[in-house]
Amino acid sequence: MQDSKKILAVGSIAYDSIQTPKGNRDRILGGSCTYFSVAASTYTDVQIIGIVGNDFDEQSWNVFKKYNINTSNVEVANGNTFSWGGIYNDDYSKRDTLFTELGVFENFTPNIKSNINNPILYLGNIQPQLQLDVINKVEDPYLIAADSMNLWIDLFPNQVKELISKVDLFMLNDEEARQLMNKDNLKNIADDLLAMGPKIVIIKMGGAGSLLAYENTKIHISVVPNTPIYDPTGAGDSFAGGMLGYIAVNGIENPKNAVIHGTAVASYTVSGFGLENLCKLDQNELDSKIQQITFK
Ligand code: AMP
Repeated sequence: MQDSKKILAVGSIAYDSIQTPKGNRDRILGGSCTYFSVAASTYTDVQIIGIVGNDFDEQSWNVFKKYNINTSNVEVANGNTFSWGGIYNDDYSKRDTLFTELGVFENFTPNIKSNINNPILYLGNIQPQLQLDVINKVEDPYLIAADSMNLWIDLFPNQVKELISKVDLFMLNDEEARQLMNKDNLKNIADDLLAMGPKIVIIKMGGAGSLLAYENTKIHISVVPNTPIYDPTGAGDSFAGGMLGYIAVNGIENPKNAVIHGTAVASYTVSGFGLENLCKLDQNELDSKIQQITFK
């Protein structure tokens, strides 16, 4: 990994309670930063910025250890780790949040002591003001990428727009894109988002794949065909991890290949509950998934 860029990522570290048509899990390790970092660690070194409570257990720390993820910027505070509950409908097309308990996240101020030179910076899904704060604290990033979600678009649309104007790569899902831009046509939305500043925009469409837009190019990229779905939680962050991991190794010249890698990595996440299947990623099998992805 010597010539690769390193990645610095901020986001949530969580205990999730999840209900899907295939089963339930209670208090399993999740959070945007967690999914992202495990996915990206397949490609390069990752350092994470976040906060957990003193209920964060040994088994959870061991997941970061296993993937060599640097946690020196993860603060341990008195209180409970952020926890989130969600339920999916029968065809996984909708997810309702059952609860969001901020716990120690409520008083989180990212404190960054990083010596990574020219990092790729990933701003996972957290309050946009915190994402903007991290941008101001990181010197000389190679690339800044960010994700957001419906909650923040509802609460702070102007801050989300400010964030978009400050990043090189912005991604969000189709529903959120329509909500933020108040338009229906995804290609037009992608053009409007590009006009706000990012060089690359990606609109994720769940089982229908993703729309990649940059310069005058738009490419629709499929998912891995016949992927069994158990739990889509964290798919977006794993997608981002695979994509930015690819960019860390290969540079930014071929965004289409980066999205294809992100798509293949995310297919692991959705095929198991929580991190269960992502943790079984196998390089040969990943290569075969990459070959099955189509684009037009
Ligand atoms: P995704 O499925 O990619 O949207 O990401 C799911 C992860 O986001 C879960 O593991 C949750 O712990 C985390 N999450 C849910 N709501 C929030 C929130 N309001 N802020 C930060 N992270 C969240």
